[in-house]
Amino acid sequence: MTGNEARKIFLEYFKKHNHRHVRSSSLVPQDDPTLLFVNAGMVQFKRVFTGDEKRDYDTAVTSQKCVRAGGKHNDLENVGYTARHHTFFEMLGNFSFGEYFKEKAIDFAWDLLTNGYGFDADKLYVSVYKDDDQAFEIWNKQVGLPVGRISRLGEEDNFWAMGDTGPCGPCSEIHIDRGKEFGCDDPNCAVGCDCDRWLELWNLVFMQFERSEDGTMTPLPQPSIDTGMGLERILSVLQNVPTNFDTDLFVPIMDRVGELAGKKRGESKQVEVAMKVIADHSRASAFLICDGVLPSNEGRGYVLRRIMRRAIRYGRSIGLTKPFLHKTVQTVFTIMDDAYPELKESAAFILNVVKNEEEKFLETLETGMKLLEATIEDLEKKKEKIIPGEVIFKLYDTFGFPVDIIQDHVKEMGIALDMEGFDAAMAEQKARSKSKKKFAGVGEAYKPLTSAGVKTVFKGYDTIEMQSDLL
Ligand code: ATP
Ligand code: MG
Ligand code: MG
Ligand code: MG
Repeated sequence: MTGNEARKIFLEYFKKHNHRHVRSSSLVPQDDPTLLFVNAGMVQFKRVFTGDEKRDYDTAVTSQKCVRAGGKHNDLENVGYTARHHTFFEMLGNFSFGEYFKEKAIDFAWDLLTNGYGFDADKLYVSVYKDDDQAFEIWNKQVGLPVGRISRLGEEDNFWAMGDTGPCGPCSEIHIDRGKEFGCDDPNCAVGCDCDRWLELWNLVFMQFERSEDGTMTPLPQPSIDTGMGLERILSVLQNVPTNFDTDLFVPIMDRVGELAGKKRGESKQVEVAMKVIADHSRASAFLICDGVLPSNEGRGYVLRRIMRRAIRYGRSIGLTKPFLHKTVQTVFTIMDDAYPELKESAAFILNVVKNEEEKFLETLETGMKLLEATIEDLEKKKEKIIPGEVIFKLYDTFGFPVDIIQDHVKEMGIALDMEGFDAAMAEQKARSKSKKKFAGVGEAYKPLTSAGVKTVFKGYDTIEMQSDLL
């Protein structure tokens, strides 16, 4: 079964059960400044769930473009290292706005997985929220799942909330046992473990309470359903391959990377990780640019820039020293543009943006990497393990290195970054630019802003702050 077929089976199944097929929304959330990117299928229905908006349907099915890089859900660092995480992925979901609730949602999910997709029922395990006896009973009595295959987990895994206040509720997740060889060394490794053995396929959220400011939970008059399942993950099971990157949604991109670099899959861990990172980031770049995000030094654009520069840095680590990302992005089109025709319309534009960014960054990447490598060599000689803040700042400021690129590079060397020193160097630069501003007239002070551009302060992965660069 191909990726396109697996997506279609999901949509058709719920259409057959009277769900309205709604198109994926853009990756850029509409009227939602609290969210960097759409990271789940429910985002486009937020106001429907809260009752602030009415639609002419009360059940829906989607295949939603999602990005989890930055913000509350950030999987950027996982990419390349786990079998199952991407920055960009497709979330398949069915939704009920007060129409059906737990029983039917669980029934649909079980029927589709075991009959529709033909998964081996004996390998499926579920988790429910520890106090959700109702969900436990449905799985046990209605579906007939043995007690030993139902885990009760806590808030962190099995309770979902839209925010600190508002709609929330328990959830139930369906996992598949991929076998011991995917497990970890933890003697307690079981459903809910962070390794790849108990692969989480599908999250069924039962929105049934409204949480108020003082924490009281009032039952919602119309309990609703929000579900999400990663297409790439079910595909890895359907195609019986070890990771999402071995499915037909990725193999042509992986092959293209290998061809360009003259490397083979699995040749070394380093090559394997780099190929996965590049394949993943090619997809994210294609889809983000298609939805109007452009590489820049702030907000969403900066996350895109970090993604692209990360791919380029990994490319260099396997010998790709000339622009290559636009070529791997092109392969993304051939796989995805039937399902997402918007890619076709913007193909030339996307390739241009990618190539521009590559050329710009490659100008400084080589010199920056030499500085970084020389610093590491120097540290080794001195038997030290911390990259000084001024070096990080110089790489960031002069060579355009997002901090996570440096982090990635030293990840396996046991070397840390002096982020306090980095912050201090940044603050110093800010102070310098402020004092310069004082001497200039008001009008003058703004001129350099436009000519020098705007810089971003890296403050951990969740926060991006703008700063004027007047140096
Ligand atoms: P995990 O525990 O594996 O990180 P999650 O609990 O963060 O997953 P949910 O927020 O419950 O994931 O999202 C619903 C579904 O979307 C997951 O069950 C999974 O199939 C899929 N999914 C989530 N994050 C990713 C990702 N980074 N890449 C690919 N698929 C994902
Ligand atoms: Mg996660
Ligand atoms: Mg999880
Ligand atoms: Mg989950």
